[in-house]
Amino acid sequence: MLEKLKEEVLRANLGLVEHGLVIFTWGNASAIDREKGLIVIKPSGVAYGEMKAGDMVVVGLDGKVAEGKLKPSSDTPTHIELYKAFKNIGGITHTHSTYATAWAQTGRDIPFYGTTHADYFYGPIPCARPLTRGEVERDYEKNTGMVIVGRFEGIDPLSVPAVLVKSHGAFSFGKDAFDAVHNAAVCEQVAKMAALTERIEPETKPADEYLMDKHYLRKHGKNAYYGQ
Ligand code: 13P
Repeated sequence: MLEKLKEEVLRANLGLVEHGLVIFTWGNASAIDREKGLIVIKPSGVAYGEMKAGDMVVVGLDGKVAEGKLKPSSDTPTHIELYKAFKNIGGITHTHSTYATAWAQTGRDIPFYGTTHADYFYGPIPCARPLTRGEVERDYEKNTGMVIVGRFEGIDPLSVPAVLVKSHGAFSFGKDAFDAVHNAAVCEQVAKMAALTERIEPETKPADEYLMDKHYLRKHGKNAYYGQ
């Protein structure tokens, strides 16, 4: 079932390691087949070097495993909430990449400090609110998804394709799993640049909005002209 998507999801997960976003078994990537309403996600706690496409787990939007011998990622309920709320996304990643996680630990949004940011993110990279004790103690992973969804009210997840979860790490979105990995790598790089910017000059102000408009829209706008 969904053999091609399983291959893609395996390669996307390995991509997280190749980009230096994940060590050990930290993090996960998934993709969704919207027609079938099925998600393919990596198994929980399996070393990346040992994972095979056949180890990927197929899960319904109701959380039930449709196929797979292994337990799905512990973050599956978070991915499900995001796929349910963000109808235009086809892939998700979760990482504990160093700089994005450092920002998540501060609880701050990553401000728009330059064009690298605006080439991918049309606004600050938001940090979702902390979960309450009750939200952590019961249905933690599902609530993590709901808190992210709440933070994206009025924001198109494909125009701001990453989010920080307070005291935890980052999630990214994309039109497919590879796009989500790409956005996770850019999020980490932007987080690093923003941290260094503030270290050099703690009083740095966000860059001008017209510069953000120019850079985001020349790549993603209706009249985009970047690339071939
Ligand atoms: P899984 O191996 O269950 O996907 O967990 C990885 C992780 O980073 C949990 O936050």
